[in-house]
Formats: sequence, C-alpha cells, structure tokens
Amino acid sequence: MPDRLLSSMAVRLGGRIYLFDAGEATQIGWKKAKLGLRGLTLVAVTHLHADHCLGLPGMMMFKAQVNEPSPLTILGPPGIRGFVEDNRRMLDFHINYRVDFVEWHDGWDGPAYEDDQVRVIWKTLKHTRLCLGYRIEEHDRPGKFDPLKAEALGIERGPLWGRLQRGEAVAAADGRKISPDAVVGPGRRGRHIAYVVDTRPVKSIYALCRNVDAAFIEGMFLSAHREHAEAKGHLTAEEAAKISGRAGVASTILVHTSLRYTNDELQLLEKEASQHFPSVRVGRDMDVFAIDYPDQPSRPIP
Ligand SMILES: [Zn+2]
Ligand SMILES: [Zn+2]
Repeated sequence: MPDRLLSSMAVRLGGRIYLFDAGEATQIGWKKAKLGLRGLTLVAVTHLHADHCLGLPGMMMFKAQVNEPSPLTILGPPGIRGFVEDNRRMLDFHINYRVDFVEWHDGWDGPAYEDDQVRVIWKTLKHTRLCLGYRIEEHDRPGKFDPLKAEALGIERGPLWGRLQRGEAVAAADGRKISPDAVVGPGRRGRHIAYVVDTRPVKSIYALCRNVDAAFIEGMFLSAHREHAEAKGHLTAEEAAKISGRAGVASTILVHTSLRYTNDELQLLEKEASQHFPSVRVGRDMDVFAIDYPDQPSRPIP
C-alpha cells in the first residue's frame, strides 16, 4: 500500500544486517532506512506466502550492485531454495556472490545459523502452511573487567589486561600467576530477539520468546475480528500480549497488522494489547529500536 510496507525486520549488529522476511518491495524500506548495500548477511524467511518472500529476488539483485559483496545465507521452509532458483533462472538475474541455502526439515536439531556474533534458532508455528518463527541470540559477552583489582594485583594497564579480558591467565611482574576470574566478573548474556508472525497460539512461540529483550510478534487483529484470526491462522493483539506476559518478554512490538486498520487506527491494537501486557507498542514502518542489554530496558529511537 502507498502508506504501509509489507513484513520485514532488519537486525543490525556490528556492520552486518540480518533480515527477517522480505515482503514485496522490501528494498524500498531498506533504501529509506539507508541500510547500505554491504551489510546484508542473512535473510530468514518465515514461509512461502507472497507478503513474506516476494521481496527476496529484489533484495538479491540489490545486493549485487556492488563489487565483491559478502556471501548471503538464506534460511527458510522447504521450497525456499526452489523459489529463489526458479526466479533466478526465469528472470536471468545476475548474482556476484555466494548464496548458501538452509532449508528447515522435520527433526531439525540445533541452530539454523551461527556466526561469530549471533545464533539463530527456528521453530515451526501453526499457520495455513508451514511457517517458521525465529529467535536471534547474540553470543554472551565476557564479564566486566575490574581495572582497580588488576592494578592491586600488580598488573599494569597494557597487553596483559587484554589477555585477562579474553579469559587467559597471565603472570604478574613478580611471577605470580593471575587467573582471569580474579579480575573479570561473571559472563553477561547477550541480547535476544524473537520474530513471530503468521500463527495461531502454539507452544513453540513460548520457546522462541522466553525472556527475550524484544519480541516482534504479529498483532494482526483486534479481538472483535477474532474469527478472521482463527480462519486465516493469525494472532490477535490480545493473544500476542498474553503470550508476551507468560513468556517473560521485556518488551513487545506488534507487527504484521491488518490493512483493514488505517495507520490512525493502529493505536487501537496497542490499547487493547496493553490491557494484558504493559510493555507493548505497535510497530510502524521505519521504526527503529535500540535493543539494550538485559539490565537496561529497550527503547525506540525517534
Ligand atoms: Zn501467511
Ligand atoms: Zn502474512
């Protein structure tokens, strides 16, 4: 629609962008958000419905506009590889980077994707066709380094500090061995985000959303239109809010809202959801959120 984009969420971390769903014309939102051409590392597709995957060929062509782009990993349900390869063959579009496909299969155990920053977990949801929900977990960070303790133990500022921070034992000037736990606090958990759309309530949503710092959950309908949610395999805003509370989510952003509600009416979804879970808001096109570490609340960036 002229005033509403389709489903897509970009997670930006350390120069890389992990994209969740690519509805038609995702590259328009991408350009508006000035995300650049270089960072796109992963596209995780929930399911093969047009509003979640038709933008993928466009994003792939877009990424090919620079010299020597980084490789791209595409996660999705069975058929995602065929969808991309059929499009590529029929349209004969040029790709100048490596593409790795990972298709979900029954009995999948372990993460769908992992690099030196994050791991991505997927689980099947309950929609009108096979649909995957995602959880992205930043790796845990080492504990806080205490410079005063290090100095008290006779380790002066310098390369030895770095080695202790990386978990190595070092020798002090007088030869004593200093172990890292003498100066580094306990490890701190990384940030966790869930992306759950196109589903009825189902147990796997809890595993995806358990204690996340931010959950991007579908809030497609008001309770008054519950019968559409049930018939088409979607969540109401109220259901998304109740699940958030039970799963221990820190803050929830309602996404994939129905086009039956105008942009002005979206606040009704937020209002209904907030009666069941306090930290909820409606996500709108181009919204940007800073996801802070678990000890600080996440917040929207104006
Ligand atoms: Zn769908
Ligand atoms: Zn959808």
